Amino acid sequence: MTVRTTTRRKTGAGQSGPRATAGAAAKASSTAKSAPKRQGAGAPRNARKPARLTDAEVAEIFRRFHAANPEPKGELEHVNVYTLLVAVVLSAQATDAGVNKATRALFAKADTPAKMVALGEDAVREHIKTIGLYRNKARNVILLSEKLVAEHGGEVPCDRAALERLPGVGRKTANVVLNIAFGEPTIAVDTHLFRVSNRTGLAPGKSPLDVELVLLARVPEPYLQHAHHWLILHGRYVCLARAPKCRDCLIRDLCRFDGKTA
Ligand code: SF4
Repeated sequence: MTVRTTTRRKTGAGQSGPRATAGAAAKASSTAKSAPKRQGAGAPRNARKPARLTDAEVAEIFRRFHAANPEPKGELEHVNVYTLLVAVVLSAQATDAGVNKATRALFAKADTPAKMVALGEDAVREHIKTIGLYRNKARNVILLSEKLVAEHGGEVPCDRAALERLPGVGRKTANVVLNIAFGEPTIAVDTHLFRVSNRTGLAPGKSPLDVELVLLARVPEPYLQHAHHWLILHGRYVCLARAPKCRDCLIRDLCRFDGKTA
């Protein structure tokens, strides 16, 4: 069985949540509140820096994303929260399709931390050897599974700090798990979100954290839950790195990118 989205717990998305945290962090971050410093990938050398979109334009972008795809889903296959976590750990510098191909057989054998530990690192490595960095990833899968068994009763914690203490789990992975599995309005900035956010003028930033904080502060509340998926899908299938499909883009008129294709 493939579970695309499992929402366990909805958190209040008000100003006491991630948006408030983002706002405070953004204030403290000179880079997050500064004007855009760079063009997105693929811009002509002499292209000017994109102007930042207005709040009304940001709202219009997400209104269109929502109208086109009201319930966007991630593409990493998983059968429970634990396998989602493992899939996201394995997806670093790999495609979702490549990860799915490797994890179908792996998750059929081990869909809990205890089963994964029992399976062992050698067997995990053998299952995922088609994925980049598979040796380190196999080790991290076993280490994080052991930690989940030892410290969390075999459950994936619904807590950013606890997630980020697991081997192989960083902020981006924690954001994905918190968003998809626990219904938190987090935004995981990967290469696609970083490119789209900078190119369009939606959330210019020099680092993924800068972009994340600006997005959390700018995306209208009703769209925060799915913003990550809309942007990742847009970057993966429309706003491609080398040849963006601007002709087919539903936000072409709003986008500030100077390198738009005809
Ligand atoms: S018009 Fe659309 S596809 Fe083209 S660069 Fe802008 S967001 Fe990307």
